[in-house]
Amino acid sequence: MKTLIVGAGPVGLAAALALKARGVSDDITVLEAAAQNAVSFGDRNIALSSASWRFLTKLGVAVGASERAPIRQVEITQRGAFGLICLDASDVSAVELGAASPYPALKTALDNATHAAGIQIVYGAKVSSVQHVAQHAEVHLVSGEQMRADCVVLADGAGSDLVAEFKRIERDSGQIAVITRVSASKPRPSVAFERFTDGGALALIPRADKDWTVIWARPRADAERMLQLDAASLGDEINTAFGNTMGELTLTAKLTSYPLVWRFVEPRASGAIVALGNAAQGLHPVAAQGLNLGLADAQQFAAVMAKKASSTAATLASFARQRGIDRVARIGFTGLLAYGFDRGGWLFDVPRGLGLTAVQMLPPLRRELTRRLAL
Ligand SMILES: Cc1cc2nc3c(=O)[nH]c(=O)nc-3n(C[C@H](O)[C@H](O)[C@H](O)COP(=O)(O)OP(=O)(O)OC[C@H]3O[C@@H](n4cnc5c(N)ncnc54)[C@H](O)[C@@H]3O)c2cc1C
Repeated sequence: MKTLIVGAGPVGLAAALALKARGVSDDITVLEAAAQNAVSFGDRNIALSSASWRFLTKLGVAVGASERAPIRQVEITQRGAFGLICLDASDVSAVELGAASPYPALKTALDNATHAAGIQIVYGAKVSSVQHVAQHAEVHLVSGEQMRADCVVLADGAGSDLVAEFKRIERDSGQIAVITRVSASKPRPSVAFERFTDGGALALIPRADKDWTVIWARPRADAERMLQLDAASLGDEINTAFGNTMGELTLTAKLTSYPLVWRFVEPRASGAIVALGNAAQGLHPVAAQGLNLGLADAQQFAAVMAKKASSTAATLASFARQRGIDRVARIGFTGLLAYGFDRGGWLFDVPRGLGLTAVQMLPPLRRELTRRLAL
């Protein structure tokens, strides 16, 4: 079976490796618009669950220990009110809940594994459209070249717009994620934090270089104000919002921002074409679920294709149905973190605090939440 994958991001490469590992396709080509070794998302610190790391390891994707910050605990709190959930790897007899790696380290490991598997990546190959041709699909490149395949996988990320019938449903959240890095005077290694503050959630994710990445969802006007602040004032705001659980936090990078737009592509499969990862959905980064969801897409896609009993179109339609629940659950969970906790005042703080305390006090519920997020 000939397979073309559009996009050599992490999801496109994981899908290529998974198809090859399962023996689904003996002729896989990945088409990538960027030049070889072009660096994108350089400073992004990607937190992946244990389940995602297990999948990557099976595919031969190896990230060195010095590039991996293990996450053993996740603390969820709300600013200025009671309530704490502490998800701990030991509760589910695991060594870690996941780990975070810099995007370039992850990408290099995927590139190496793809090379070792003998999968061809064509760089500088920008695709302009993908069309159905009988039971096949045809890829049109900006260069004028055309290529035909039995299956075309769209893994071309958030800007994906290559198939007219794949409708993008987008919603501007009205929030902007402000992103920076901090070091801590009393670091708590291997702990990630989610803290609910007025206006949006504040996440601190450990980094392999011992700092923490800060991702703070703010209403647009507030984010614009923060982008004008000097480092000292910004540091004060982050310290005030986060509290002193890790002592004094000191900024170690400039503030950047990322608009928070929700995106959902429907349908995500038609004929011999299917969309995976960010080409199929875009999530708020505060819950660190985007690539986890994309890798789960790649894993299940290869599994469904390996069992293929009917036409490619029927198999891809079945894949799209099977992904429905996980997709909606993770988008819903991310939405809860992003918006369910963005209001202050006792009317909201008290029930929220009771909810957090209830989960903490009920070990079976806490273990179930931990398992669903990490394992
Ligand atoms: C600030 C931030 C922090 C994040 N943190 C986390 C986290 O902690 N955990 C997590 O799970 N997720 C996180 N995410 C989400 C994660 O970065 C994305 O989900 C992931 O990068 C999506 O991978 P992808 O392969 O689908 O798309 P991309 O990484 O966008 O790759 C798409 C590829 O397709 C190529 N391409 C695009 N158009 C074409 C074309 N027309 N022809 C050929 N090639 C094309 C691009 O050049 C690119 O190489 C975060 C996101 C943000 C914004």
